[in-house]
Amino acid sequence: MSNIRKITSILLTAAMTVSLASCANEPAKSEDDGEFNIVTSFYPMQILAMNVAGGIDGVTVECMSAPDIGCIHDHVFTTDDLRKVENADVYIENGLELETFNDRLLSAYPDLQVIEAAAEVTDAPEDDGEVNGHVWTSIDDYIIQIRTVSAALSEADPDHAADYEANAEAYIEKIEQLTESYADQIAAVEGMRVLVIDETLPSFCVWLGLDYEVIETDHEQASLSAGDIADTVDWMNDNGVSVILVSSDSDDGIAEAVAAEINGSIVAFNTCMTGEVYADAYLDQMADNLVLLQYLG
Ligand SMILES: [Zn+2]
Repeated sequence: MSNIRKITSILLTAAMTVSLASCANEPAKSEDDGEFNIVTSFYPMQILAMNVAGGIDGVTVECMSAPDIGCIHDHVFTTDDLRKVENADVYIENGLELETFNDRLLSAYPDLQVIEAAAEVTDAPEDDGEVNGHVWTSIDDYIIQIRTVSAALSEADPDHAADYEANAEAYIEKIEQLTESYADQIAAVEGMRVLVIDETLPSFCVWLGLDYEVIETDHEQASLSAGDIADTVDWMNDNGVSVILVSSDSDDGIAEAVAAEINGSIVAFNTCMTGEVYADAYLDQMADNLVLLQYLG
């Protein structure tokens, strides 16, 4: 096991240990509070909305779920969640079927205005014929999501349209500056063949131009069978693949078992799916990921 090189993210480790400020315990607002209340489904949408709608008088951003729940598609929807959406003027979701509880939400609030951030994303990866909705890990798709949300908020709350648009453009500019500063590292990994054990990262791989094979785990790596592991080892040997990408959010025991068989390396990337709640969280997690690209070679 000593020959396994494992690179983990300092940021994510820190984020997992920080006491997270949850939006979950805010009391429901009264119907006529005079504010434009934005409620998001989960952490990546919360961070996006904090950027697009932050610092605007009379506009609030709350999140239905806690920032440490992991993927929203695993979330057990509760009546408490419903209550948090009660006085939302708009509800921002990722979409692409990650929010599996929408029937219950919309049956309770049939007039709820839903913004699907990923509505304009056209290159979501497909795994086994199913669309993989974790598209925010593609920086290009995330920018599409920012623009979609900004346009929809501007329509829903026209008094603040100029603010949403200015915020969105400023946020996109920061993201583009980040990727430009790592342009050489990004170009260096293009076409590299890797194994991904986690369904949050295929969009990140697409964005980087990696030639990837994915093993879906439903965010639980322990679910892989011994046969799956053996097949994976064979595939890696046959294809000369020695790098395994995993999510910093999940246990990497299976990846370690595979890597030990092939003398391979594991690189754990942030998924921007959980973490500390602050506006630059996505930027910081992605910056950390771009630093890690040097370990793919
Ligand atoms: Zn998921």
